[in-house]
Amino acid sequence: MIEDNPANVSSGEAVADGAEAVDDRLVEGNFKTYDQFENKLRPQNLVEYVGQAGIKANLGISLQASLKRGEPLEHVLLYGPPGLGKTTLAGIIANEMGANLKITSGPALEKQGDIVAILTNLQDGDVLFIDEIHRTKAPIEEVLYSAMEDFCVDIIIGKGPSARSMRIQLPHFTLIGATTKVSMLSNPLHDRFGNIYKLQFYSEEEIATILLRSAKILGAKINEKAAERLACASRRTPRIANRLLRRVRDYAEIYDIAEIDLKSTEKTLDMLGIDILGLDQNDRELLITIAQKFRGGPVGLNTLSAATSEEEGTIEDMYEPFLLQLGFLERTSKGRKITDRALEHLGINLF
Ligand code: ADP
Repeated sequence: MIEDNPANVSSGEAVADGAEAVDDRLVEGNFKTYDQFENKLRPQNLVEYVGQAGIKANLGISLQASLKRGEPLEHVLLYGPPGLGKTTLAGIIANEMGANLKITSGPALEKQGDIVAILTNLQDGDVLFIDEIHRTKAPIEEVLYSAMEDFCVDIIIGKGPSARSMRIQLPHFTLIGATTKVSMLSNPLHDRFGNIYKLQFYSEEEIATILLRSAKILGAKINEKAAERLACASRRTPRIANRLLRRVRDYAEIYDIAEIDLKSTEKTLDMLGIDILGLDQNDRELLITIAQKFRGGPVGLNTLSAATSEEEGTIEDMYEPFLLQLGFLERTSKGRKITDRALEHLGINLF
């Protein structure tokens, strides 16, 4: 559900800023649609949550200990690239604690009053999820400091000389913050989280497991070879895997294919312009530009941005993380360089 009213907080559903809900790049894990499709596929408990073994082990212990003590879980910070399962994990934590989940996001909180209203409406044990917490404005962060540490907020009543400060006690809640840019979090905020977990890219086997699970929920038949092929093209990201599955399912439905097989999967990926490693036309253009216009680089981000007509932020946030992860790009002090691996994959010879 996309809510426009930024002060609103929703129960178990997300308040998103609409700008990111654009389905324009299939292999991008960044935008969230919060649609029924995505919610339907979210695992509801830790056992169903595939991969992230280290997080599951540590979180499992913290959850059990909190339940045993009858106390809310300490605040949790989840960070890592988009689409890896941060929101899903927040839902699981609330479920496992038997708590209500309220969801909002950093950019949706405009005034101190927004966060105060949300906090004062919480009940003991509730879980408050703040997505993109690195985009929270400074005055709102200040409210969070005392809320997280002492479970209270100080509000100013009145104006001018008659203004006075009043302290409001809050219920004991758990804040879960999610961010793709942990380095942008201020130290005081970062330090108030008792549990800090970094989500890793998934292995192809884990993505295949997620795909088989999703297909089952959607009532789509897919054989193992097709799931493996789709997993290779999913950039090790569950959100992208589920989205590609939806496209292959469409193809199979149109052509009356009872079970999604390797052939229909490859045909769909071909039509979408997604190659064996999950690169799409945009990735290839970026790499080819570095190789051919800048002789492999290094090339500065702003020059690259001008040459490809892509915004710097888009290159940094959407293209680079996976290309760096693949070892196709290198970031040097002088700019971006294409690697031999990428040249080999693209079949380009620089000399
Ligand atoms: P993030 O909040 O990190 O951007 P989400 O939690 O929204 O990512 O996950 C995106 C989608 O991927 C969800 O709809 C969920 O179905 C799926 N997903 C994410 N992590 C897992 C996982 N570990 N196991 C199974 N499905 C997952």
